[in-house]
Amino acid sequence: MTADLPLRCRCGALEGRVGSPHRAGRAICYCRDCRSFARWLGEPDRTLDAAGGTEVLATLPRYVAFDRGLERLQCVSLTPKGLYRWYAACCRTPVGNTPRDPKLSYVGLVRGCIDVPADALDAALGPVRMKVSTDSALERMPSTPRETLRGLAKVVRNVGGARLSGAYRENPFFRAGTAQPLVAPTVLSFEQWESLREER
Ligand SMILES: [Zn+2]
Ligand SMILES: [Zn+2]
Repeated sequence: MTADLPLRCRCGALEGRVGSPHRAGRAICYCRDCRSFARWLGEPDRTLDAAGGTEVLATLPRYVAFDRGLERLQCVSLTPKGLYRWYAACCRTPVGNTPRDPKLSYVGLVRGCIDVPADALDAALGPVRMKVSTDSALERMPSTPRETLRGLAKVVRNVGGARLSGAYRENPFFRAGTAQPLVAPTVLSFEQWESLREER
């Protein structure tokens, strides 16, 4: 149950793994920024569900390791202060989202880069119980507040623990021991940002 989960971009050039998956939390984010990211990458239907949600696996960056093709890993930010949104440039597979400050030890790995079939992921981690930003979903969402709060509490506990122990310094998305992202992010212009926000 606690075996590493393989990470892989669609073309296979970027490969890695996420350890301690039992500490991770599955969530679907319905925020407009996650949709904009999917649109910016192209073929958003690969990432978004019918209600415009992006499934992520929330975990600590130190559990993530890249084994191959790290030079493919690139970063975009929708706005000058937005999250770092990581993707594999070879095939534009979304990889994950991290805060700009690595002391906030968090990564939301996008489902599309987790190379595990749906039934196996359900068996390993249980179904998705957290739904966030449901107010901006494209369909009406039944809210799941209790499950979501419980799931978020687990993530916050993990993030806080990493900060106290100094473990946040192990982060494959940043240059070792610094707050410098591994690659300089592309920051979208206001016009690009605006055009990506247009909902169909
Ligand atoms: Zn690729
Ligand atoms: Zn989001």
